[in-house]
Amino acid sequence: MDYWICTTCGTQFTLSQIPPQACPICSDKRQYIGYEGQKWTTLAAMQSGDSHNVFKEYEPGLTGIGTEPTFAIGQRALLLQTDQGNILWDCITYLDDDTVAVIQQRGGLKAIAISHPHFYTSMVEWAEQFDAPIYLHEANRRWVMRPSERITFWSGETHHLWNGVTLLRLGGHFPGGTVLYWPQGADGKGVLLSGDIIQVVADRRWVSFMYSYPNLIPLPADKVLRIRETIEPYQFERLYGAWWERVVAQDAHQAVMRSAERYIQALDHVPST
Ligand SMILES: [Zn+2]
Ligand SMILES: [Zn+2]
Repeated sequence: MDYWICTTCGTQFTLSQIPPQACPICSDKRQYIGYEGQKWTTLAAMQSGDSHNVFKEYEPGLTGIGTEPTFAIGQRALLLQTDQGNILWDCITYLDDDTVAVIQQRGGLKAIAISHPHFYTSMVEWAEQFDAPIYLHEANRRWVMRPSERITFWSGETHHLWNGVTLLRLGGHFPGGTVLYWPQGADGKGVLLSGDIIQVVADRRWVSFMYSYPNLIPLPADKVLRIRETIEPYQFERLYGAWWERVVAQDAHQAVMRSAERYIQALDHVPST
């Protein structure tokens, strides 16, 4: 019996004798099955290989955590430290004793919150290790592959954690697509942790919004407009996306506003030839 892990998306599944038939997350039109077909591994197999996690501090109170060599879709989590306890924003598959020690040194975890299913990875391992609840939006409930009593499904449009840290449902890429607002970040000017619900693009003064990034399926204008309207009242200087370098370093609120307008305009003015 094992908790099998899909190597393409990094999701860990519930206990079974043999690997599942397929990974529903990769079979979905927003993802893909690897070129070599469906493959599985386990956390123990990864721990006996050359995987390790690296840490990089972005700013006081915010540290990125990612796995080398790159695993699955190259997910990077963020450790957010506050006076009232730490939050793991998004999650990665790989977890080992070294990683646990680094996080325990910084005060452990009080909660885990995740933007959408492509970052569910081995969240239950993390939750059990750190004795922390996981906050997921209930609209993404069907994508949980390893159910656990540690998971709390929240509903509605916002969920307040503490110290003003708030989860916001923006939808888009997934119906329960969530971002995290951290008002004390960026020296009190505010930070948004967005996963790829708001995707930082190559020109890091801009962001984008997609139903599927790997398969390049855009979102309809009304969904992008809703994201824009939901985020508009929140002030933030910086935005941290889903991967290491995907950061809007300054003027991020304006970047989201003008990017949403550019996107909607592009949909409205498709060239006729
Ligand atoms: Zn998968
Ligand atoms: Zn995604």
